[in-house]
Amino acid sequence: MVDGSVQQVERVAELEFQLAVTRAMLGALEVDKVLYIILSGITHGEGLKFNRAVLFLSDDSGRELLAVNAVGPASGAEAQRIWQEIESRGLDLESLLHAYDQAQKDAAAQSLSRMMGGLRVKPKSLPALVGTETSVPLEVLVAHTAATRRSWLSNTMKVTFTSPDSDKLKVMTHVAAVPLALDDKVLGVIVADNFYTRRHVDAEVMRSLITVSNLAAIAIEKARLHERLRALAAVDGLTGVMNRGHYETRVREELARAEAVGRPVSLMMVDVDHFKLINDTYGHEHGDHVLKAIAQCLRERVRAEDVVARYGGEEFAVLLTGGQTLEDAAQVAEKLRRAVSELAFDDQRQGMVTVSVGVATLLPPLAEAATLLRMADKALYAAKHAGRNRVMVASAEPTAG
Ligand code: GH3
Ligand code: MG
Ligand code: MG
Repeated sequence: MVDGSVQQVERVAELEFQLAVTRAMLGALEVDKVLYIILSGITHGEGLKFNRAVLFLSDDSGRELLAVNAVGPASGAEAQRIWQEIESRGLDLESLLHAYDQAQKDAAAQSLSRMMGGLRVKPKSLPALVGTETSVPLEVLVAHTAATRRSWLSNTMKVTFTSPDSDKLKVMTHVAAVPLALDDKVLGVIVADNFYTRRHVDAEVMRSLITVSNLAAIAIEKARLHERLRALAAVDGLTGVMNRGHYETRVREELARAEAVGRPVSLMMVDVDHFKLINDTYGHEHGDHVLKAIAQCLRERVRAEDVVARYGGEEFAVLLTGGQTLEDAAQVAEKLRRAVSELAFDDQRQGMVTVSVGVATLLPPLAEAATLLRMADKALYAAKHAGRNRVMVASAEPTAG
């Protein structure tokens, strides 16, 4: 039974493919990486061999689907080039699935991701898909797949789309569309085609695509949860700025980055003046409210790439990462000090909250985070000693040797 054994071999290959993709997907902790693995599996020669694939994800409101990732060539010439390259590199599926970092660079250079990236679908505003057309707009197909939560396949109909970066109508043929469904939610839709090879999409390929898509939905949800947990773990529960644990990691990263580009880094230690008195006079709850307001005030007045963290009870660390000189940093500190002193709580308490700030700047070659902290702390102590509600600048530490 030659036929039987060929089928057996194919079935084993199919299962091996599903297993490799599943393992890689479930091991990925970032959503983008999961998306990359799904699309690579669908288009690789040892996988489902689709020429191209694009993945749409639902936004938080569920009212819109957005093309977030696409793999494959955008022209016949590009198809030849990519396939030859894959062949010459001898990239098997397993290595491709683990080559995410390199692939991110390659993908940026592929014109399909440029062509498809940012394509938006608003299901509510689109006509229904009827069975009689010879061609259907991609948006309608995506909306239909999301709404019905059923997969769709056609080897005869054309699927058309216009890319956000040109008005020319583009075509997909030999197309499969599958929903990424989990419980009662549709996380997204995958559309894949064989435009260049015109290879028929058959029931077996569909079955594999559906299996992979169901597992992909689980992997995406898992990665999303993980990303959310990681974000939560970095944030101080009371004030919403970064917590100390995460700050310690960030400070080391920022020092390494500044060292690499030869830029200075500045740290301000900001401590609330007589905070114990505020607690004792107005109660702990009001104290909490003051801490929140100060954190927000600091966060709003520095740039997004600067770091604001709650370093201790009523002490904040602000790290300036834009290469400021000590003079610049002192000016920022003065701006922050004044802003806090102008915070209004209510008539009685207005103007009574102030902070003292110690500022330090490290010039490349940069010393350790501990040195920067020690310098800023010393300056803060001096500011307290000199009467509070003021900014003091650290004098440079003598270098060893
Ligand atoms: P100084 O001007 O010298 O900094 O005086 P201070 O009173 O601010 O400093 P001290 O270190 O004596 O007191 C800090 C107070 O901050 C004591 C502590 O109870 C209070 N504190 C720490 N964490 C919190 C918090 O999360 N909420 C509130 N309401 N108070 C806190
Ligand atoms: Mg204090
Ligand atoms: Mg303190």
